[in-house]
Amino acid sequence: MRFRERMYRFFAGRYGWDRLNWALLWTAVGLMVLNLFFSRLPVVYFLLYGLSVALYIVIFCRMMSRNIPRRQAENQRLERMWSAVCGEGRLMRNRFKDRKTHVFRRCRKCKAILRLPRKRGRHAVTCPRCGRHFKVFILFSGKQEKE
Ligand SMILES: [Zn+2]
Repeated sequence: MRFRERMYRFFAGRYGWDRLNWALLWTAVGLMVLNLFFSRLPVVYFLLYGLSVALYIVIFCRMMSRNIPRRQAENQRLERMWSAVCGEGRLMRNRFKDRKTHVFRRCRKCKAILRLPRKRGRHAVTCPRCGRHFKVFILFSGKQEKE
């Protein structure tokens, strides 16, 4: 009972586990695995080994940290980066899929990416997000509009 109470006191108010720790843990494990291929190169071997050990220390320190807002901010930075990468990947896929029927242009004012029907010539476009008017020149017509 006393032991449990002591453990509880020890972990109370500490940060614990999050997705950033998962990411760090998998990176550390990945480095260890990568290290299997460098056993004949002592410099690389110890560098990777040291790096993964450093990561384990960082993970442990984050778990035990009492500065919870700061740890949450770190984790949020990772989540934002992750969703940006996912969004970019999805966009690239769509752009590739629609390349014959649509063109993609970035609005210079609000940075929104507009999906426009691929139709040869100069077109007046209004950004649906910020309302900016601009001209888009399209060199080649798509497959759908054959005259
Ligand atoms: Zn815009």
